Amino acid sequence: MDGQTKPLTRTVNLILLGPPGAGKGTQAERLVETFGFKQLSTGDMLRAAKKSGTEMGNRVAAVMERGELVTDEIVVGLIEEQLTTAQADGFIFDGFPRTLAQADALGALLEKTGQSLDAVIEMQVDDAVLVERIVGRAEKARAAGEPVRADDNAETLTSRLATYHEQTAPLIAYYGEKDVLRSVDAMGSIDRIASDLGAIVANVNET
Ligand code: AMP
Repeated sequence: MDGQTKPLTRTVNLILLGPPGAGKGTQAERLVETFGFKQLSTGDMLRAAKKSGTEMGNRVAAVMERGELVTDEIVVGLIEEQLTTAQADGFIFDGFPRTLAQADALGALLEKTGQSLDAVIEMQVDDAVLVERIVGRAEKARAAGEPVRADDNAETLTSRLATYHEQTAPLIAYYGEKDVLRSVDAMGSIDRIASDLGAIVANVNET
């Protein structure tokens, strides 16, 4: 990518699928800058609810700190609210869906709002690299005096990874059958991964 915005010429909706620490948030931000997507991160929405102390936020806090998934009903509700109110040339679903039930619900919501799902990009990273990255992310935040995510610690990470393998990884086969799945090696430099993702988006935009 050359850092210039390349607006989408048609609506492109995509999912970034990958384990915690795969770089979904970082890469979603890059894609927003480059193509003008709207990022929909259920993790960010839940953290915002927790921070502002809403009843729902208080209810999910402990579940998040254990590295487990909040209910499908809550996250599908958050996404539905966005899909029915937000305007965008394309959405990036970041950290959603995480279960087969969420994937079915997203399919139904997109159909209801007359939209398509154009690509599901699997970000492939070995578990050992994820542990290093997440522990590094926490150390960096701590050193900079920034707040450290309550779930960015070695203990919760083990649980988040197990949750990913059990409940989210089956989505790879689910979307593989629907012919929308693409994969990138998400273990190199941020720029190289951004460039691979950008190439996929440009390709989808042209087809
Ligand atoms: P993330 O920032 O995407 O890593 O999400 C942080 C935490 O929020 C997860 O470990 C879950 O507890 C919760 N969460 C985020 N997105 C979802 C989702 N789609 N389904 C269930 N729980 C979620």
